Amino acid sequence: MFDPDIEKLTKEKLQSLQLERLKKMVRYAYDNVPMYKKRMKEAGVDPDKVRNLEDYSKIPFTKKDDLRDHYPYGIRAVPLERINRLHASSGTTGKPTVVSYTKNDLDTWSRLMARTYAAAGVTKEDIVQNAYGYGLFTGGLGFHYGAEVLGCTVIPTATGNTKRQLMMAKDMGSTVLAATPSYAMYLAEACAGEGYDIRKDFKFRIGMFGAEPWSEEARQRIQNAFGLRANDVYGMSELYGPGVAVECVHQNGLHIWGDEFLVEMINPDTGEVLPEGSTGEMVFTMLTREAMPLLRYRTRDLTRVIWEECECGRCHPRIMRIKGRSDDMLIIGGVNVFPSQVETVLMKMEGVGDQYQIIVDRDILDRLHVKVEVEEKFYNSGKYDPAKFKKKLVDEMVAVMTVRADIELMAPGTLPRTEGKAKRVIDLRKQ
Ligand SMILES: [Zn+2]
Repeated sequence: MFDPDIEKLTKEKLQSLQLERLKKMVRYAYDNVPMYKKRMKEAGVDPDKVRNLEDYSKIPFTKKDDLRDHYPYGIRAVPLERINRLHASSGTTGKPTVVSYTKNDLDTWSRLMARTYAAAGVTKEDIVQNAYGYGLFTGGLGFHYGAEVLGCTVIPTATGNTKRQLMMAKDMGSTVLAATPSYAMYLAEACAGEGYDIRKDFKFRIGMFGAEPWSEEARQRIQNAFGLRANDVYGMSELYGPGVAVECVHQNGLHIWGDEFLVEMINPDTGEVLPEGSTGEMVFTMLTREAMPLLRYRTRDLTRVIWEECECGRCHPRIMRIKGRSDDMLIIGGVNVFPSQVETVLMKMEGVGDQYQIIVDRDILDRLHVKVEVEEKFYNSGKYDPAKFKKKLVDEMVAVMTVRADIELMAPGTLPRTEGKAKRVIDLRKQ
């Protein structure tokens, strides 16, 4: 463990640390961020009288729009000269969402990332090839500095330039691949084209994969291709970036670093706080952030939290794999469908390649339209019968998700590949 004193805290001790930090943070946000002062006053919350989580739940939520409304510098509690760095995430429309960090925030984040690597089994002997995008996106620098703090050798290849990426991985003997899961799949596929024997030529033993939702089945595919252990990493730029939560070597849910992040689960429709163990939307409060305090920030991410000791000895709460972002949910013939569920069905089927696209072309969907690439080996095996294969997929969609699907089979290599985050849902209404 990188921070054993904190990582080994019992649930009770962690909860009392959270409460102590929470009280300070509420006061800090009230004193330094006009928006929070105004909202607490309106909600009748006296920052000095927040004694427990119930008092706390009277503070209104913070939403992504609040960050946009504070463009360009975001929700800020310190003068500009104390801001050390800015990151931004691209909005679908208009201005980006900007997030800011003081020197202390950057140190905290890097230490959280170091912890994150260590929890996944990475050590200072590892050679980390960081194939996340460097820039305004938090993935690149987040994974970079965390690995440096842990003491690893870091190769900042960034995303893309796949030919060189693979050459470096082989020649340097990289042991950890940090990338989006879709880029990891892309790399696996590119190996054959570049003449590599993926299991012999590379030494990757651990994958640090995040920044997009992915299914258990995609994990199996990546693990089988590279012969590595693929660990899920959760985060978002509003909450520093990557390193909010990570799967330890037991791959049994993602540990949220409870000393820095307080998580609540709410009903996304009503905002009601749900009891422990319920599935709902995650709402985060950052417990020590200086530059950009966030109280009760709505993530839109749907999952379930459990809080019990893990085999690894950590007692921090764990989230189960993210089901999807509530914004990404599709309603097909009255059934709620997440793209990750479609992926789960597809990736389980033999003969399905790694690439697929969900096409959304109208507001009310009565059928799921999916373009599915056929796996090359199966395609050329002589056993591939398109009509039969299509029927098998359609039947499986009905059986597992109770939705009717239009499946469009695509020849291997015909769907567009991305060297970053995959675009799995193509919304023709937005083009
Ligand atoms: Zn664990």
